[in-house]
Amino acid sequence: MKRGLVRDADFVRTLPVGVRHLGDNRAVPSLDPAALRVRRYLLLSGCQSLVYPFWRERVDRETGEVKLRSEFRVSICCREPVEDVARIYRNGPTVGFSGLMRCGNVWGCPICCAKVMRRRAEQIGAIFTAVHERGGSAVMVTYTAAHTISDPLEKLLVGLKAAKRNLTQSRTYRHLAASRTGSVSATEITYGSKGWHAHQHDAWFFDLAAPDPNKLADELFDPWLNALTKEGMSAVQFYRDKRTGENRRIGVDVRAAWDASEYLTKFDRERNWSLAKEMTEGRSKQGRVQDSLTPWELLEDAIIRGKDSPTAKLWIEYLRATKGKSAISLMPAAKLLKELGMPTRLDDFIDANSVGVGEVIGKVSDHYFDRAVRECGLGSLLEAARNSALPELGGMLNFV
Ligand SMILES: [Zn+2]
Repeated sequence: MKRGLVRDADFVRTLPVGVRHLGDNRAVPSLDPAALRVRRYLLLSGCQSLVYPFWRERVDRETGEVKLRSEFRVSICCREPVEDVARIYRNGPTVGFSGLMRCGNVWGCPICCAKVMRRRAEQIGAIFTAVHERGGSAVMVTYTAAHTISDPLEKLLVGLKAAKRNLTQSRTYRHLAASRTGSVSATEITYGSKGWHAHQHDAWFFDLAAPDPNKLADELFDPWLNALTKEGMSAVQFYRDKRTGENRRIGVDVRAAWDASEYLTKFDRERNWSLAKEMTEGRSKQGRVQDSLTPWELLEDAIIRGKDSPTAKLWIEYLRATKGKSAISLMPAAKLLKELGMPTRLDDFIDANSVGVGEVIGKVSDHYFDRAVRECGLGSLLEAARNSALPELGGMLNFV
């Protein structure tokens, strides 16, 4: 079956934009699920264009051959089938390519992030469920540090990691953490009017009732401040919300976590869509004033404004600063994971490249695939397969 290629940017323009939420006198566009799926491919190809200048010639030490290599592995993600065809598979609601080289960068690659985070969400969800089934409970502890507009992200991330290590070595912390059965840890990064901001979110699990969140937050603040001070950093305990006049915890915040969903929304970096909105309503050439941008929003902005824009420079800084760092650590939950029969070591690259189980519903020749990559149409190619390969139609789609 031969089908015309549709560019992803043209495909999303055909989708409806509804209203999801009316509140605070604001209507948030609700996007078609297809738009959200295709958006990832738009972001990936946009990101690959932004990092295009970072390919360098390198001489192979053994053969003397000159090869091109990108500073960023995301450059090669989903661009080539490993064999001579790429397969499209369906596994429940998921339709995806298999047999493509993936980069495994959960920070900077929207495709690998979605795939790997789906797995992490299952793993973290299973821990929460098991903890609750045993009559246990969980809290979410969030740590932040004070920062200024001029702080480089790299410095902030390195400082936070060192402070976290200092904290776990303190006597008070060890005493407070003694009744835990395990924990998982994740890093969230945003960019706002005060520059880069990083949070460390830990879920703490208990076999019995969790400690009082406010009491635990009070007890953790001093050890956290000490841990930060050793790294030349600081934090404030409370922040006065000008709108409500309330004091909000900022250095250390603790909340009860009834299930994994609240914890996981911290990594649901796809809640705020703006690219499709801008694409369907016409691009806004004016500066967008927003207090806090998620990395994907930063990338969207960089794509729209181009490689010389301030956001493009921030995006490159973000890619460099997060290189080789883990976004989620399940290591402190190793004992719980073993009890659940789940793997305790995680590898984003392996998970991003794992071949999913599922039915093959289409095949794409390397020639056709290459065209789809060049014309930025991978997302709409998957949507075509999703819509045309319904079981009643039978047969397989061949894009050759
Ligand atoms: Zn990738």
